[in-house]
Amino acid sequence: MNDILKLTITELIEKLKTRELRSVDVTKAALERIKERNDSINAYITICEETALKQAEISDQKLDDGEAGMLEGVPLGIKDLFCTKGIKTTAASKMLADFIPPYESTVTQNLLDEGAIFLGKLNMDQFAMGGSGETSAFGDTINPIKEEEKLTAGGSSSGSAAALADFQCFGATGSDTGGSVRQPASFTNTVGFRPTYGRCSRFGMVSFASSLDQAGFMARSVEDTALMFRAASGFDEKDSTSADVAVEAYDEIINDLEVKGLKIGLPKEYFVDGVDQKVKDVINAKVEQFKAAGAEIVEISLPHTKYAVPTYYIVAPAEAAANLSRYDGMRYGLRVEGENLSDTYAKSRSAGFGWEVKRRIMVGNYVLSSGYYDAYYSKAQKVRSLLSLDFEKAFEQVDVIFAPTTPELPFELGGKIDDPIAMYLCDIFTVSSALAGIPCISVPAGFTPEGLPVGLQILGKAFDDAKVLQAAKKAEDMNK
Ligand code: GLN
Repeated sequence: MNDILKLTITELIEKLKTRELRSVDVTKAALERIKERNDSINAYITICEETALKQAEISDQKLDDGEAGMLEGVPLGIKDLFCTKGIKTTAASKMLADFIPPYESTVTQNLLDEGAIFLGKLNMDQFAMGGSGETSAFGDTINPIKEEEKLTAGGSSSGSAAALADFQCFGATGSDTGGSVRQPASFTNTVGFRPTYGRCSRFGMVSFASSLDQAGFMARSVEDTALMFRAASGFDEKDSTSADVAVEAYDEIINDLEVKGLKIGLPKEYFVDGVDQKVKDVINAKVEQFKAAGAEIVEISLPHTKYAVPTYYIVAPAEAAANLSRYDGMRYGLRVEGENLSDTYAKSRSAGFGWEVKRRIMVGNYVLSSGYYDAYYSKAQKVRSLLSLDFEKAFEQVDVIFAPTTPELPFELGGKIDDPIAMYLCDIFTVSSALAGIPCISVPAGFTPEGLPVGLQILGKAFDDAKVLQAAKKAEDMNK
């Protein structure tokens, strides 16, 4: 492998600026790596060789002309649920297997405006529903860490995580509805950041559960993640839930945090018996490092944590059922002709959606149907408020919260796919924060004795994105 692929984004930018490297050469090297590795790792659904090289040529010109954007010439991978104009966007479903969007999502447009190169579209769980990459209609993604053991790279942003860990891109977009950038980051020793809800526009992202969906950013360093996040975020009138709050120079202020005196909350509900001891060991060691550096460690309680998974698995499917009703075989997406209109609907949806998507549509319609709405959906909404309140109270006491990202280590492909409840339970530490809409990140914390990665999760108050990133940078520095 070409060593330039191991650079971080910030290192690459330096070398592009001094012309030590040219974007065309870097892009070629990345494309070569992808082509060489895609059969084994299956991180990419679509490779954009021609457009990427064209973008790189333009970037080199811009660098020569002194007109470089924040990410000028940097090759990224894009999760295949961001609509990319003129480039297939499948959401890893047969339903959208041939869908070529006539428009660009705001997040990807912002990245393009800053000079990013798009290498291709990354594999994922179908419609972002899943935690292992296995619900993709385009095959499983293999975790490059211990490749021979065929472990999952996590999900739903499986391709983003695997591509990064395997040096097939320098940074990647993901999306996080209930943990989809954080859990794959934890499983692949990469960084995965979920911003405050509303911080990044959802326009042009294939919808799963609109009140939860957020764009996420993944990279091999915290600073890279902060830079991509800065480039992609901002108010957007095309998304009614977009927040009109100033974007900060997250990458430039990444070191502006004192560990001394930092109040770190450890929720007792996140360190319980069901959590793998090896995960706890790595997290505890990291907490000790912060303590030694002068942080104040406070035990806190998030008392409604035990209701987070059931709440999420009512709210998310309910919204998914509504969002996915647009795929009716009529306007766009797969169409299977039937004998009449309803027959065409039924045949198209039956053929287009995978089993996990169908399961969620059924659950969603059930909890929204008359007679069950009050018992499930409206109760879940109330519990959602209680979960948010848990965090609000906690942040009266502490600056940030530390926790494991997931209760377990990367597991084998096929290990949970036939047991949806077991799969859903893995989301226990990532769904509460998603329901509350607060910023959170998974940052590499270390390895188990067998060499499996463990991610430390850091959570902050809404719009305290900078602080979450800064604390993660400190955690990353302590790995060295
Ligand atoms: N694993 C969770 C689910 O299946 C989260 C997915 C996501 O964040 N997109 O819903």
